[in-house]
Amino acid sequence: MSVAEILFVVAGLLLGLAFQGGMFLFLIPFAVVAFVLACMNRPRLAGPNSQSATAGLPVISLSKRATAGNPIIAPDLRSEFIGIKGLANEPEAALKVSQVWARANADINRSMTDMLLALKIVVPNVNSVIVFTQMENQKEWGIRNFANDKEISVNTCVRISETSGLLGQLFRSNVNRLLEGDLPGAKSVMYYVDNPAIKSVVAVPLIDHASGLRVGALVMDSVRPNAFNDMTARALSFVASSISMLDYKGFYSAQKHIALQQYSGLYSYLRKFFQTMTVKDIYKQIINYVKANMAYDRLTILAMDQGDDMTGRVVFCDGVDSEQFANKTFTLSDKGVFVLALMRNRPMERSFLPGFKDYLPRLNDTERKNLNLRQILVMPISAEHDSDMAEIAICLESSSSMPYNDHEKELLKAFAGVAGFAYNRARKYEKGCDQAMRDGHTGLINKKTMFEKLRSEKVRADRGKYHIGLLMMDIDHFKHVNDTYGHPIGDVVIKGIADTISKEIRGDIDVVARFGGEEFVVALIDTTAEGMVETAERIRKSVEKLVFDVHRSEPLRVTVSIGAFLLTQSFNGDLQKAINNADQALYRAKEGGRNQVVQFEKQDSEPVSV
Ligand code: GH3
Ligand code: MG
Ligand code: MG
Repeated sequence: MSVAEILFVVAGLLLGLAFQGGMFLFLIPFAVVAFVLACMNRPRLAGPNSQSATAGLPVISLSKRATAGNPIIAPDLRSEFIGIKGLANEPEAALKVSQVWARANADINRSMTDMLLALKIVVPNVNSVIVFTQMENQKEWGIRNFANDKEISVNTCVRISETSGLLGQLFRSNVNRLLEGDLPGAKSVMYYVDNPAIKSVVAVPLIDHASGLRVGALVMDSVRPNAFNDMTARALSFVASSISMLDYKGFYSAQKHIALQQYSGLYSYLRKFFQTMTVKDIYKQIINYVKANMAYDRLTILAMDQGDDMTGRVVFCDGVDSEQFANKTFTLSDKGVFVLALMRNRPMERSFLPGFKDYLPRLNDTERKNLNLRQILVMPISAEHDSDMAEIAICLESSSSMPYNDHEKELLKAFAGVAGFAYNRARKYEKGCDQAMRDGHTGLINKKTMFEKLRSEKVRADRGKYHIGLLMMDIDHFKHVNDTYGHPIGDVVIKGIADTISKEIRGDIDVVARFGGEEFVVALIDTTAEGMVETAERIRKSVEKLVFDVHRSEPLRVTVSIGAFLLTQSFNGDLQKAINNADQALYRAKEGGRNQVVQFEKQDSEPVSV
């Protein structure tokens, strides 16, 4: 074995070790040194075979992160995954992702600098070694990294295009290397501040594996004529391939790191979801997550109305024309793509080519048509895993030319699964709460809830300096109704009276409860004694007018007696006492002949019939 062969083996071993899981990247410069030494020690082969040296270059992902000292940092995951600028939706998450990219960039830069320095030390008469990579516009190359002689300043702002200078040639796909040994002057070499007398240049392209396109160049120059030969060009090609591999590895390990972070973020949401008990809070968590983890130009979240399986509304909208969509309602017969995905409980994707004209409605035809939004991804969330219809839909839209990628879809799908689970739980919990709060027959709140509401209303009334009118009512001779017509008819009467009371009061302000079997309590918020008695009378008269068809010759009619008590700020007893007062007035109403309203006036005075 010759010295050169041994050195080649050593270089190979070092390189292999260096890329072993990305753990030994620091070995790369040593591998390069070994390799270059091997090249220099190698006996010359007959005929040039270096033309094919760059043919097998591995994947290069240098594009988009080109400039030296000023790495282009992706604002979020999406833009790096697909190479297109997306929106940074949530500053904090975007920052975390940027930090990962910045660190990866710094690591790559450091190793790359070491490689360039190694080349400069090992190859004789080198002036500068420079890595050019593609600028964001993808039409020019800029300097990403370099090693040079101190007294000669490299112009880091230089932009090399296809038409500019000697290196521009490397943009063209048929050129595998440049080897110049007798340059007329430095004019054609454009990357110096002052023009040194550069005589020799050797350069090879950096080629992107996926696209086969040139995304940069590795360049070495010298003031000596014919400083480089085929061997140097060949060595340079191998180093270029190492640079590509270094970048590729760095890029994917950063990408993996971010993906890992995102999945662990998903688990943190699992925890958050388990601390969330209400459906409204579930919506909030969904919004938070999507805002922090997905790129979009518009985010719309639809939810079906609780207790209604035909209508829904937009619970959240952010981004382009969001005011258009916020709070919009829809029915399942609407022909929008969002509604369709919700109805079918299936994720849906749409991608439009530039210049498309036929707008696809998201909710329905009445919305503003925005043709700039070219990507749609709808992820439904359903309480039951395999139900026909979903209850919530996350709708992402973007103006990017690139569709949402597999990673994004996977992540969102995983999240939708977790969210559906939490949503199911919250819905059941709310239903349970509601059942505990309400009377199932009439739908009115029960006694316990009435006391809770009264307590908070009293605090508010004291602060606002107004009164609460308390009405206690009881159906007259109800035992007789039961006895004559049967219990089921009695139930119908109770429901009928409950509905009548609800109609006669202000539904969103006053409160009515089924207090016991055939007793009801009404709290009239912000009223006077006169107002209270007036309302009580109105209720009494409405009940009196009620007719229940019981399939007999005579329809059934019932009446109620009502006791009224005005709960003022000066009242300093507890709420039970206030209810007792109303009850006492009710007792008087019964005594007074029923079907009447009696107001409790003073604790010790006789109640007065009105
Ligand atoms: P008064 O005019 O003095 O109130 O006479 P009343 O017969 O209505 O007497 P009371 O208020 O004491 O009657 C309560 C009756 O209401 C007893 C019970 O059988 C009946 N009741 C209570 N809850 C229900 C219910 O949910 N459904 C039916 N059908 N009857 C009920
Ligand atoms: Mg009773
Ligand atoms: Mg009764």
